[in-house]
Amino acid sequence: MKTFEELGVAEPLRRAIEELGFEAPMPVQEKVIPHLLDSKAGDVVALAQTGTGKTAAFGLPVLQRIDPDINKPQALILSPTRELCLQIGSDLADFSKYETAVKVLPVYGGSSIESQIRSLRQGVQIIVATPGRLIDLINRGVVNLDNVRTVVLDEADEMLNMGFLDSIDEILSHIPDERKMLMFSATMPDEIAKIAKKYMQQPVEFVIGQKNEGAQNVKHVYYMVNARDKYLALKRIADDTPNIYAIIFCRTRRDTQEIADHLIQDGYNADALHGDLSQQQRDIVMKKFRDRVITMLVATDVAARGLDVDDLTHVINYGLPDDTAVYTHRSGRTGRAGKTGISVAIIHSREKGKLREIEKKIGKSFERKEVPTPQHIIEKQLYSLADRLERVKVDEEEIGKYLPGVARKLEWLSAEDLLKRVVSLEFKRLLDYYRDAPTIDFIDEKPKRERKDNDRPRNDKEKDRRTADKGMARVYVNAGKRDGFYAGNLIDMLNHTVEGKRVDVGRIDLMPGYTLFDVPQDDARRVVSGLTGAEFLGKHIYSEIADEKKDYAKASNRKSKSKNNENIFDEPAETIADYFRKKSRTNNSGKKKSRK
Ligand code: AMP
Repeated sequence: MKTFEELGVAEPLRRAIEELGFEAPMPVQEKVIPHLLDSKAGDVVALAQTGTGKTAAFGLPVLQRIDPDINKPQALILSPTRELCLQIGSDLADFSKYETAVKVLPVYGGSSIESQIRSLRQGVQIIVATPGRLIDLINRGVVNLDNVRTVVLDEADEMLNMGFLDSIDEILSHIPDERKMLMFSATMPDEIAKIAKKYMQQPVEFVIGQKNEGAQNVKHVYYMVNARDKYLALKRIADDTPNIYAIIFCRTRRDTQEIADHLIQDGYNADALHGDLSQQQRDIVMKKFRDRVITMLVATDVAARGLDVDDLTHVINYGLPDDTAVYTHRSGRTGRAGKTGISVAIIHSREKGKLREIEKKIGKSFERKEVPTPQHIIEKQLYSLADRLERVKVDEEEIGKYLPGVARKLEWLSAEDLLKRVVSLEFKRLLDYYRDAPTIDFIDEKPKRERKDNDRPRNDKEKDRRTADKGMARVYVNAGKRDGFYAGNLIDMLNHTVEGKRVDVGRIDLMPGYTLFDVPQDDARRVVSGLTGAEFLGKHIYSEIADEKKDYAKASNRKSKSKNNENIFDEPAETIADYFRKKSRTNNSGKKKSRK
């Protein structure tokens, strides 16, 4: 492995990067730096993800190629977003700490053009720009690119995704032909090859990692649930990761806002980042995320570009993108700087094809995981609390003032009792939420016959289910365990839908596709008419006084086949809103908010 000196990096730059902790060049730097510094070498296409060290790979030679005596733009770096622009500008400033003569200016949309014009007039040597704003400045006659000798297109695939192809065309037409051009891209769609062919001279292609492959140290896992359970799965993943620091990618702005709103309502440190927010709002959200005030950022792909965070625990795909390149981008946000990352996909059964397609393209397989069980989550959280208790810094002086009084009040408790109470205090809501919580994994591996048999009464004992206890009436309701409908949900639903005095519920038999339960004979009619027409997680509830001769298993199988579980999350955004609206209207899930 070569040193930066052997690659030809000048001393003042080396001193600066050494201070930044760069000990040895990263692979992309080893390949790109000497090539860019060699005035005879041609253009470069480099396939490299963010996090591979590509900014220094082009930034160091670009800085070194600047002639300090010419006070005009000599290098142009194009980037898709304002955030990336600022990031590159700030990296170049760091690298050129001891090359103070070099002037770098980031120009981007969404910020005062006048102050950018003023800075341009004072003279700059390197412009880092978003395409739209640069064209604006060219058209106003305040930028002259005649002296540009180096052009870098960073995240070229992303610029194409954002529709900047024409802008790039126009910008390049203002730059002399005898330029060195460098294009970085995380993926290699055909359009990139076309740009290379059109604008570059015999480009050398460097591939860092493999083409279209996600970062090496990213583990890809997926959870498969019914479409309507995606949000519940997300919550469980979050609850199972006490120190979660994640970006949750959604396809639409609306989904992004909805999911974030519900996470916030449910007590998570979450927020949304998407294009409907003003630049100022986006800046605030990103700052909060960087500062970890927010630990779950729900974002669209475009809005999350340029948000540079290195130590995400998870990238979560709330559904899969259509384009594999988008998945590669998303998963490349984790597993950076030598750390291991996890890219999670929460999918429903009909997204399986897309998953296989991505596997083929990235050459890696996804591991299917079971959605964390309540027991596992609670255990994880308990250990995390124990860990925090061990590590908490006690401010002896401050706390000490109040301790004697508190100690007197609690002296009747043993140490064990005290611990139990602390834990219960912290966990009551989590325990309440997960009590009776169903398994939400989509069951696809079970042979069909086995499932049917579960529903079919095969012996007398099962027939007894249809008979009420003495003095009671048996009531049928068309929701069962398969719907995530448990005793708590039934009681909750009765409390919310049946008018008049509280109903005492007797024996409850929960079946996969339906439920039979006893109520006092006098209350039966009231119960049936209250329940019928209610909704449970989007399912229309039907109830009747149970008929001893009727085979409800068969009936419920027939119905579930024809209705085939409503897939609420399948459809575009508004249905998610509908789902939550329905849920809060009927308030029948029997689940309480779990977190502070
Ligand atoms: P980038 O791909 O340019 O976003 O870089 C990813 C991260 O790697 C940034 O935090 C850089 O500061 C860091 N980095 C770049 N080159 C090196 C190097 N040679 N040694 C250590 N860290 C580096």
